[in-house]
Amino acid sequence: MQSNPRRSSVVTHVGHVPIGGSNPIVVQSMTNTDTRDVAATVEQVARLARAGSEIVRITVNDTGAAAAVAEIRERLDDAGVDAPLVGDFHYNGHLLLREHPAAAAALGKYRINPGNVGVGRRHDTNFATMIEVAKEFGRPVRIGVNWGSLDQRLLTALMDENARRAEPRDARDVMIEAMLRSALDSAELAERCGLPHDHIVLSAKVSNARDLWEVNRQLAGRCDYPLHLGLTEAGMGVKGTVSSTAALAVLLAEGIGDTIRVSLTPAPGAPREREVEIAQEVLQALDLRRFAPSVTACPGCGRTTSTLFQEMARDIQAYLKAQMPGWKERYPGVEALRVAVMGCVVNGPGESKHADIGISLPGTGESPKAPVYRDGAFVATLQGDSIVAEFNRLLDEYVEARFGRGVTPSGRLGRSENRVELPTTEP
Ligand code: SF4
Repeated sequence: MQSNPRRSSVVTHVGHVPIGGSNPIVVQSMTNTDTRDVAATVEQVARLARAGSEIVRITVNDTGAAAAVAEIRERLDDAGVDAPLVGDFHYNGHLLLREHPAAAAALGKYRINPGNVGVGRRHDTNFATMIEVAKEFGRPVRIGVNWGSLDQRLLTALMDENARRAEPRDARDVMIEAMLRSALDSAELAERCGLPHDHIVLSAKVSNARDLWEVNRQLAGRCDYPLHLGLTEAGMGVKGTVSSTAALAVLLAEGIGDTIRVSLTPAPGAPREREVEIAQEVLQALDLRRFAPSVTACPGCGRTTSTLFQEMARDIQAYLKAQMPGWKERYPGVEALRVAVMGCVVNGPGESKHADIGISLPGTGESPKAPVYRDGAFVATLQGDSIVAEFNRLLDEYVEARFGRGVTPSGRLGRSENRVELPTTEP
């Protein structure tokens, strides 16, 4: 696992979840239910949380939504779902938080968009009211700037200032500066209102990867608040997944970002949890966190004799996912497990040796045997119709031996004592 090279030095607590410092990068998500619909919102929050969302944001957009928050929290607690809720406020957050103290108490954090808290003097007054409530309830805030709702007064002032320069800057640079100023000036105002420094998280979201890199690199260089990353309006399906991954991965690899959300537009009827799964995969691919065992599988090519290895890779991935709720309890650390399922002898044995346990299926023209390796050593050859079942059995044995009572002092499998009794000949 990689260390966190630049994560914020400040730690903000959202309920029981710490953000920043050397803490793991937190996965967040957001519901798309009508918050007034308590049952639907509770169900979706629970699904997102069970999928791995450690914090869930809900819209609090009107009186009905604010009135529902406390009951949503209560029902989640009753169901054993402890993911903190974040209230997403726009335009009327100062009124809703004041008029609904039960909601203010039930939320773990308030998201404030400085572009949407009013204009002129009302901007600062409304903002200060929300900060006052945050202080009263001991809650942190996320000051979340979004280029789609950037403070127009600030942007216009910076554009005018830029136009008067002898050598005006590019409009994109001015827009980025406006986002930075909006976030940092708002954080400064929050602290002047008495909110502690460690009760503030910042975010600056845009819908383009390069702009996201630029604005967050500058933000990270100009403050030490924990940063929430997300590519806003990433889109649907493959496009949304790839855009989000490209945008987040570069910053995370540079050590920027303490919490992330993948803002994926789900296809109609598709599960909302997909965004959580992608966020986890991004962190796992960067070796920043481990959530579940990984399966390395080759893409297959003309050497592949059948779809057996593709089916096997898919089935093993599904098997591992299905086992995880129970395995997490019984086998601490099992999420670090690496399994390889390979299509032929070209890269199969090599990749299998790099994994904790791996199998190399026979390719075109190869004898119909599948060598299995554990901890880099050849242990068995499988063949016939029972290859998948036999490999799953070896996998279970490996997990039990390494992560259960059979863990050796080094945490690695004791090879000789765990050798599988099968007739073997190394290929
Ligand atoms: S391991 Fe074999 S089957 Fe898989 S991609 Fe490489 S050559 Fe093709």
